[in-house]
Amino acid sequence: MERRCLECGEALKGRSDKKFCDDQCRSSHNNRVNGEVTAAVRLINNALRRNRRILHHLYRERGLKAASRLLLLEMGFNFSFCTHLQRSGHETFCRWCYEYGYRERDEDWLELVESASDPQFCMVAGMTHSWPVAGSTASQSRAMSARRRSA
Ligand SMILES: [Zn+2]
Repeated sequence: MERRCLECGEALKGRSDKKFCDDQCRSSHNNRVNGEVTAAVRLINNALRRNRRILHHLYRERGLKAASRLLLLEMGFNFSFCTHLQRSGHETFCRWCYEYGYRERDEDWLELVESASDPQFCMVAGMTHSWPVAGSTASQSRAMSARRRSA
């Protein structure tokens, strides 16, 4: 079978493990492949970061514990992307975008959650305890000293 350069398609002569006709074809091929991967990664990372920013804004800055799906859509939320899923009851999931997440209450309404107020998150993320959040520190250290006493 005739072998052809992976970049320009020219017939290859010489060594049987050759994939490109020259260094220029090799480097433009590698640049193109890496560029495609980077563009895909960048698009998804941007969507995830925007999702996180929207959840952070609604939960932290506006203090909302629930929001309509329509509001999130209007703000540019992309429901196709989340960082991880967490089972939260029978056939319900919490969808996380980093440390902020949401659960579907019904077709229109979403319950908003933050990892620090959701202890299961830390187990999923492999963290022994959540990062400091105002109000949670006291109960955390109480829990830890209780664990030390019982050990
Ligand atoms: Zn070539």
